[in-house]
Amino acid sequence: MSRTIIISNRLPTKVQRTAKGLTFQPSEGGLATGLGSIYQSGDNVWVGWPGLFVEDPAEEQHVTEQLQQDSMAPVFLTEAEIRDFYEGFSNSTLWPTFHYFSQYATYEQAHWEAYVAVNEKFCQAVLALAGPDDTIWVHDYQLLLLPEMLRRARPECTIGFFLHIPFPSYEMIRVLPWGAELLQGMLGADLIGFHTYSYMRHFLSAVSQMLGYSSQNGQIETPSRTVLVDAFPMGIDYQRYADAAASEAAQAHARTYGAAMHGARVVLSIDRLDYTKGISLRLRAFEELLHRYPKWHEQVSLLMIVVPSRDQVAQYAALKEEIDELAGRINAQYSTISWTPIHYFYRSLPFEELAALYRLADVALVTPVRDGMNLVAKEFVASKADQRGVLILSERAGAAQELSDALLINPTDTNQLVEAMHEALLMPEEEQVLRMTHMQTLVQQYNVFAWTELFLNRLTYSKIKQLTLS
Ligand code: UDP
Repeated sequence: MSRTIIISNRLPTKVQRTAKGLTFQPSEGGLATGLGSIYQSGDNVWVGWPGLFVEDPAEEQHVTEQLQQDSMAPVFLTEAEIRDFYEGFSNSTLWPTFHYFSQYATYEQAHWEAYVAVNEKFCQAVLALAGPDDTIWVHDYQLLLLPEMLRRARPECTIGFFLHIPFPSYEMIRVLPWGAELLQGMLGADLIGFHTYSYMRHFLSAVSQMLGYSSQNGQIETPSRTVLVDAFPMGIDYQRYADAAASEAAQAHARTYGAAMHGARVVLSIDRLDYTKGISLRLRAFEELLHRYPKWHEQVSLLMIVVPSRDQVAQYAALKEEIDELAGRINAQYSTISWTPIHYFYRSLPFEELAALYRLADVALVTPVRDGMNLVAKEFVASKADQRGVLILSERAGAAQELSDALLINPTDTNQLVEAMHEALLMPEEEQVLRMTHMQTLVQQYNVFAWTELFLNRLTYSKIKQLTLS
């Protein structure tokens, strides 16, 4: 019986050490939901880091056994590995480079070596589990070298790779001292998936320019094999958001939040703290809206959730300060006794409260400067049972390729952003419903389960095609 083995940097369960001992908390992330029915069926398994450092062999065995019961296999990483491989190469080299922030990128040989070593560690963990007929699906930028490492050990294996962040222009990749090795690493797969066609085109161009391999119709001819490349825009669990937003709990939360806003219209902004999300540009645009259109004073509030993330890294800490200062300044200038322009929360919210905010918001402001996909945009759409509400979406988020009925903006064009907010607040209900209905049809159809099925079917097809060609 062949199995499917999923590999990502983090397991879909977070293991934590508490006063009462170890806790195992399933993650609610999009990927965990989408692949849940896959890895939990049959003998399938998910390989990844459990999120805590374990030194005691007895504890390691306990964690392994617990996770095994839920079809997971842990790869234990040391503090030094997390520092150099994860915070170092993954988040300080690859993340900024792939999001066009190369001015933030560091190029440390030691980080690169840790990245190679940890990919090798994952490789050994997979090889210990995988048989020759198994299907292996590797995820994301932390594991770019893994497909090729697995290929060398198991030339016949079926290997898929999906990148969850943008793939940038060749000009960004060639800046990386290890660009060619990273491309070779990915090419170990039979099928390589991206969120959009432009990421896919960038990849094909980088492979052609840096490795000299040509391609036709998304098929790359390497000296040894044909590799298929395609776009698979990732979706969400539509029904989960639709149901949550309609639930009693969400309605109650929405009433509480609504009352606290004193009847002001709500512009919603939700992101992880990240320089790719365009949070300060958004705040400046909101400030300009209040300056240019005094009619919105007392009428509109920005409800901004920033989820803490990577705040040990200098750029993230500086960004947090900038956001705090901007929000403080705008509120100080425009607040009245009965109105707060910006309600700012630096924390993550429980799922029901998130659903309530999606339900409550009149406008969602999703304006990243770069974003592989952006799921918040799709979650907002899924939560609008009455089809009222306007999505303002950056044309540089992967989601913009599908959600063309949003008000699409260039996030660095403050003027355009101000006018889009103004237009959204004035948009007639009929137009809101029309746009939202189109977007809902799309988000509902191309949900995360369809995404998983499409990728895995295509992976099977790529292998059959290779076998018939050889
Ligand atoms: N999210 C969350 N808790 C919060 C706010 C947001 O779990 O308090 C979730 C949100 O529902 C979405 C995810 O975080 O599923 C963010 O995904 P997205 O693709 O928008 O951006 P990323 O953080 O992956 O760059």
